Amino acid sequence: MRSWSIPAGKLFGVEVRIHLTFFVLLAFVWMAESAMKGSVNNATRQVALVGIIFVSVLLHELGHALAALRTGQQPKTVILMPIGGIPISNDTASGGEQAAGKDLWRKELWTALAGPAVSFAVALIAGVVVLEYFPQAHLGTKPLLHSNHLLRSLVWFNLFFGVFNLLPAYPLDGGRILRAWFSRTGAAMQATRRAVSIAHALATLIIAVGMLLFLQGGYPDSWWIITAGFFLLIGAQFEERSVVFQSVMETVRLEDVMLTDFATLSPADTLEDALDKAVHTLQDDFPVVRGGDMVGVISKSKILEELRVEGNGYVQAAMNRIFEVATRKESLASAFRKLNSRNLSIIPVVEDQQLVGIITLQNLMHSMTLLAESRKLRRAADNS
Ligand SMILES: [Zn+2]
Repeated sequence: MRSWSIPAGKLFGVEVRIHLTFFVLLAFVWMAESAMKGSVNNATRQVALVGIIFVSVLLHELGHALAALRTGQQPKTVILMPIGGIPISNDTASGGEQAAGKDLWRKELWTALAGPAVSFAVALIAGVVVLEYFPQAHLGTKPLLHSNHLLRSLVWFNLFFGVFNLLPAYPLDGGRILRAWFSRTGAAMQATRRAVSIAHALATLIIAVGMLLFLQGGYPDSWWIITAGFFLLIGAQFEERSVVFQSVMETVRLEDVMLTDFATLSPADTLEDALDKAVHTLQDDFPVVRGGDMVGVISKSKILEELRVEGNGYVQAAMNRIFEVATRKESLASAFRKLNSRNLSIIPVVEDQQLVGIITLQNLMHSMTLLAESRKLRRAADNS
């Protein structure tokens, strides 16, 4: 998805990227208008129409961005598509949802509503201005969206865009509202999955209806309906992939990927001893253990820094006492959330208060790859 988009600068600290489907839209406009009787193709006007659509989408996203900023929910990146923006949240691992406070769903609700609100406001203001100063634009005449009628298209596109985005089909705003509502009870994962499957069905239905209208020939705007369905399908596909990734993260247990062969330090070790030990392992982070009990964690770089600044001392004084622990059966997604939320680089895995393994950011990608390979080999062996 990212690779199909080009960077377009930053807006309120959010990276904005333009999805290449905007160019597909240009081809769609050309095709749709060629299909209409008595319509003359004018390339400049068609580019202008896509430009109007782009600015309308941008204003809509601005609405979301401002609402998100107010509630502290801002995503890292937004990818602009002709159906709206797809926000990519800071940590893909959590989908930005489970790390939630209680009132998160309310914030998500307001953020989702802000976009359509802007679109309706633009449609209303543009409509009033056109009626007042450009009556020759004939707002009520078909076709409602056409490059020969840019002002009329501006009004109707924003109206349609607002309504379209309220469809309960994830990743559209309506789908987000639905998911926010479902996630009140905490079942955000299932809510997302259900919303995505509704989106698939709805996109197919929209395309079918557009096709039918097109075949009957009486409806020149039917191409727009087909286009909208097509883009909705792409959006749903993308969300589906991140849901699949998410569910893989939820099914892998820590015992499948944790390091069981690792070095530990004692709080009574001196920093110089610790550095000596650190030299002989690839590990970057060390659990500090006293008689089988975890008492802290310390990193190689922290040991070096302390030695440089404070001189030699004890691990006890330099180690980090704030750490999260996890259990064997916990999911990888849960470990990722813990690592992310506190900016940690290591999580000890504990069973009956005994340290049985560690998860570090450093080893995680490596062990995930190995795990995938070993599962593939096992499956191949089962099949033969
Ligand atoms: Zn939106």
